[in-house]
Parts: sequence; structure tokens; C-alpha cells
Amino acid sequence: MPKSLPVRRFDAVIVGGGGAGLRAALQLSKAGLNTVVLSKVFPTRSHTVAAQGGISASLGNVQEDHWNWHMYDTVKGSDWLGDQDAIEFMTRRAPDAVVELEHMGMPFDRVESGKIYQRPFGGHTAEFGKRAVERACAVADRTGHAMLHTLYQQNVHAETQFFVEWAALDLIRDSEGVVIGVIAMEMETGDVFVLHAKAVLFATGGAGRIYASSTNAYMNTGDGLGMAARAGIPLEDMEFWQFHPTGVAGAGVLITEGVRGEGGILLNSDGERFMERYAPTVKDLACRDVVSRAMSIEIHEGRGVGKNKDHVLLKVDHLGAEKIMEKLPGIREISIQFAGVDPIKDPIPVVPTCHYMMGGIPTNYHGQVVMAKGDDLEAPVPGFYAAGECACASVHGANRLGTNSLLDLVVFGKAAGDHMIDYIKKQGTHRELPADVGEKTLARLSRLENQTNGEEVSEVRNDLQRCVQSHAGVFRTDALLQDGIEKINAIAERVAKTQIHDKSKVWNTARLEALELDNLIEVAKATLVSAAARKESRGAHASDDHPNRDDENWMKHTLYYAEDQHLEYKPVHTKPLSVEYIKPAERVY
Ligand SMILES: Cc1cc2nc3c(=O)[nH]c(=O)nc-3n(C[C@H](O)[C@H](O)[C@H](O)COP(=O)(O)OP(=O)(O)OC[C@H]3O[C@@H](n4cnc5c(N)ncnc54)[C@H](O)[C@@H]3O)c2cc1C
Repeated sequence: MPKSLPVRRFDAVIVGGGGAGLRAALQLSKAGLNTVVLSKVFPTRSHTVAAQGGISASLGNVQEDHWNWHMYDTVKGSDWLGDQDAIEFMTRRAPDAVVELEHMGMPFDRVESGKIYQRPFGGHTAEFGKRAVERACAVADRTGHAMLHTLYQQNVHAETQFFVEWAALDLIRDSEGVVIGVIAMEMETGDVFVLHAKAVLFATGGAGRIYASSTNAYMNTGDGLGMAARAGIPLEDMEFWQFHPTGVAGAGVLITEGVRGEGGILLNSDGERFMERYAPTVKDLACRDVVSRAMSIEIHEGRGVGKNKDHVLLKVDHLGAEKIMEKLPGIREISIQFAGVDPIKDPIPVVPTCHYMMGGIPTNYHGQVVMAKGDDLEAPVPGFYAAGECACASVHGANRLGTNSLLDLVVFGKAAGDHMIDYIKKQGTHRELPADVGEKTLARLSRLENQTNGEEVSEVRNDLQRCVQSHAGVFRTDALLQDGIEKINAIAERVAKTQIHDKSKVWNTARLEALELDNLIEVAKATLVSAAARKESRGAHASDDHPNRDDENWMKHTLYYAEDQHLEYKPVHTKPLSVEYIKPAERVY
């Protein structure tokens, strides 16, 4: 039966048409390799398009700046969980990466002299924390939109092939563990194919949809992580989820940190600029975890705003209509649409909202997926690469700095592409497909075809999202997390018995949502199990029971294995590539 699946062959299969996937694809196509990009949506609708605030690089166009200041900020932002070799790799390459985008035609805003415009952003400082610095290169408040369209156009020029509205369902590993392709479904027809490759890159983006309140697109269901977990690959640091301080209250839609970069301030119900108390130096521009926790405390202690005192206010009217219209036009639109407020006149109601996944598929800074093999804790899985939000390199550690993600996409997308070119060129013909290729995927599909009297996918998904939201939010306790594990495991059993009523093949979104739920549940389980085990507070993981960071016992990466939900740990990389180790210190802003 499985042999009947049609097979298509490529040099490289890239799953994901966001910034990371497109940057890698460009590298491969330009090297003349037969490359296909799969995407659930038209590539330029990937979540990267929603990025607002900017991409970081120490260009120093506004004030003096250096890559090693950027490196220091990123290490500190990560709460010393980031790998310093990968962080050096990324921050050193940032200026070239941004200039390269500019040369591709990305229409950056300009400063007076004609150079690329840069704005301040949370956690980005000069002279190792002394003052905020302008490091975020921006295209108004639509930076991701400009970047994604630029990369897409370059790929069209380089003749990358696109399989648009295709969903990868599972990873193919042969008996030696080598990755040789994916099983994928063409959504228009419902037909399932084997995409046979010499190397595969996952660039499937985030999984913010495990939370009930999220800034992420509906498609961000962690498919890459689900597929990797089902193929026996561990997931790294899944306890660390970033809450963005300024999601529109009630709607979840993002208001970029760039608003605070341009001078916006947060106020509680007393009209107090409370960040002055929590972060005296950089105030509203402290790191996201710091600001989100401060807001949660204000709300918790009764200084929230609104009927239910459940949010705070972001004031921008003092910037003046002209600046708001020029630098933050998209934000004004979002505020009017989703909060019914024109920020030129009134403050925007905001609340911390799930935004970004620091963890993911473990990789090194070449984009190779790594896992333990014998004595080697980080042996590359041959043929398998990951980049972008689905990957954990780990440059963001326990907390990501704003604008470091767009940078991560292009730096590691390119690095992975380069490494894949070498790897593919060393391969002869395609490795043989396993005899049972696709069998497990087809079993999942046939279960869905035949299931009667199961629960609705949306019902189970809502319960999953509510469970993660209330058990793995901004503040956590041992009891809350333990309880969350029991609840999510019970929900997992329901996931395996969902039912879809529409069994048609053509454009069946019900089937796709059921398959996405298989991935959401893997990510949700990994999150709760990893978080319950970490007995400290670090970056975005804030435990009421263990309020301090514990470097002696916990400066290590978590690895979650899906099959039996067991955890292993590996050390943080403390050797940068060329500079000295940045030693742990208290994180104050
Ligand atoms: C609202 C918002 C604003 C942000 N602003 C900024 C910012 O200003 N600066 C910054 O640095 N970061 C920002 N971020 C974070 C950053 O935008 C994301 O981390 C980044 O864009 C993710 O890019 P990616 O290429 O990894 O994935 P995405 O852009 O999310 O793309 C994922 C791709 O994978 C495809 N895919 C997924 N699953 C499958 C599957 N099973 N089969 C086939 N295809 C699949 C999708 O179709 C899509 O093409 C923001 C994030 C959000 C949500």
C-alpha cells in the first residue's frame, strides 16, 4: 500500500516559506540545486509578514554601536541560557546580513544622511547596558512585510520551485536515522506524496497557537516540532515562551515594541509610569520578560485598567500625530480596528500575550539538527536542518530580544543553506526510501477517515489552549505545572479520537486542522513537562516557588523526548568563537 504513494525527487526540500525558509532556499537555488519550498500558505502570507518593529544590527547609523555590545545584550537577554558561539556567529554577521537585504532591494527607512534608519528596542544597549541604543533597522512598522517580499522576489528570480498550499505531514528517516524527505499533502486535491530529497530543512515557524491568547497567526501550530518529535528527535528548552507586553487587550493582536522605542510609555490605573520602579535605567525599554512580569504584577495588585482591571495602557499621543502617522501607521490602524482607539488621541489597552517560542528543534550554528549519539551530545542528524523560530540554535536562550528573530532568520537561513549545499554535493544519488515509507502517516489519515462519534477538533483544541494558557503562563508554580501535565495528557488522549464530519478530499481544511492538532499537542506536552522540571526562574520561565536563577544546577538546556516524555539535559555553550566568555551576572535593566 505505501509503495503506491507517488514520489517526487529534489536535491533539497524546504518546509516553510517564511523568512528562514526563503533565505535558505535562495542560497540553494543560486547554487543551482533543485530546491522546492513547501508552504501551507502563499509564502508572502507567512507569519514573518506580520513582523513590525525591525531587524537588529550594530550598524551604528544613529549612535555609535558594536557587534560585541549586541552580543553582550543578547547573552544577557537570554539570561545566560543562550549558546555563546551561536550568539557571536549571529551578532557579528548582523551588519552584513542587513546590508545584503538592502542590496536585494529591501526598502528600509532612512536617516538624514541617507543611511538605514534605526530605532531603540527593548534590551538593546550601548556600552554593555549603560543606555539604550538605536539598533533596530526598520521599514516603518512593517519590517517583516518588506523583508518577506524582498526574499520572495529574489527566489522567483533564482527559480526556486514553490509548492504553495502544501502541508508536510511527517519526516522520513531511513533505518540509519538519515533524513531523506517528507510526506506531504497537496491541499487542493488532498493527495499525499513522498517528497524524496538529499537534505531537508524545517523552517515551519512558531507554535504560539498552543496558547489561548497569542499574537501568532492561526497557521503557527508547530508542525515542524510535531514532525520532529514523532521522528524521535528531542525538543529543546520548550519551557521558555515569550510573552509580549503589548498585545491588544481582548484581541491578542500585536502592538510592536517599536512603539515604546519611539517613546510610548506604559501607565497603570493611577496614571503612573510604573516601569520606572521595575527598570530604573531603561524603563519601558527593559526586556520583554521583565516588562510582562511588571505588568502582570500591576494587574494582580489591583492597578489594572478597565472594567475588569485586567490590562494597562500604552500612551503614545504625546509623540504627536505626525510622528505616529509616519513611523507607526500600521499600529494606528490596528488600534482603531481591534481596540476602537485612535492612539493619536487615546492610550491603547494592552496585556502580555504569548508571542514567541525560544525553544525548538535543537541545532548548531550551521543549522544542522543535533541530538545525542553515543558520547556525543550534539551529533548532527545527517540530512536534517532547521532554521528560524522552529529551531533552537540557541541564540535566544531563556528570553529573546526584540528584532533578534528577523536577524536569526536571515543569518541561520543562509548558514543552513550553505551547509546543505556542501552536504548535498557530497551525496551521490538519493538514498533508498524505507519499505514502509508513509505508513504511519497513512494510518493517521485513515484513522481520521474512519473515526465516528469522536469529539470536534475545535473543542479539543480550545481545551488544549486554555490548559496551556492557565498552567504555563507568565507566572508558574510547581503545583500549577504538575496539574497541567495531568490535564494535557488527558487532552492528548482526546486528540487521538477526534472526528471530522467532512471527509471530502478537495481543500478540506477540517482534515488539515485535525492534523495540525497532532502537532499542537506535542508542543503543549513538551512545554508543560519541561517547565515542571525546571526548579528555578530564568528569562521567560518565572516560578513563584523558585524565584531565583540557579546557575549551579540549571544553567543547562532541556531536551524533551516525546516517546516516553523523558527529559535529558545538555550544557550551555560557554565558548564563544573568538571572544571571551561573557560571565553570568545579575540581570538588571
Ligand atoms: C505579530 C508579530 C510581530 C513580530 N515582530 C517582530 C519584529 O519586529 N522583529 C523580529 O525580529 N521578530 C518579530 N517577530 C518574530 C518573528 O517575526 C518570527 O519569529 C519569524 O518571522 C518566524 O519566521 P520563520 O521563517 O521561522 O517562520 P514563519 O514566517 O512563521 O513561516 C513559517 C512557514 O512554514 C510554513 N509551514 C508551517 N508548517 C508547515 C507544514 N506542515 N507544511 C508546509 N509548510 C508549513 C508556513 O506556511 C510558513 O510559510 C514577530 C512575530 C509576530 C507574531
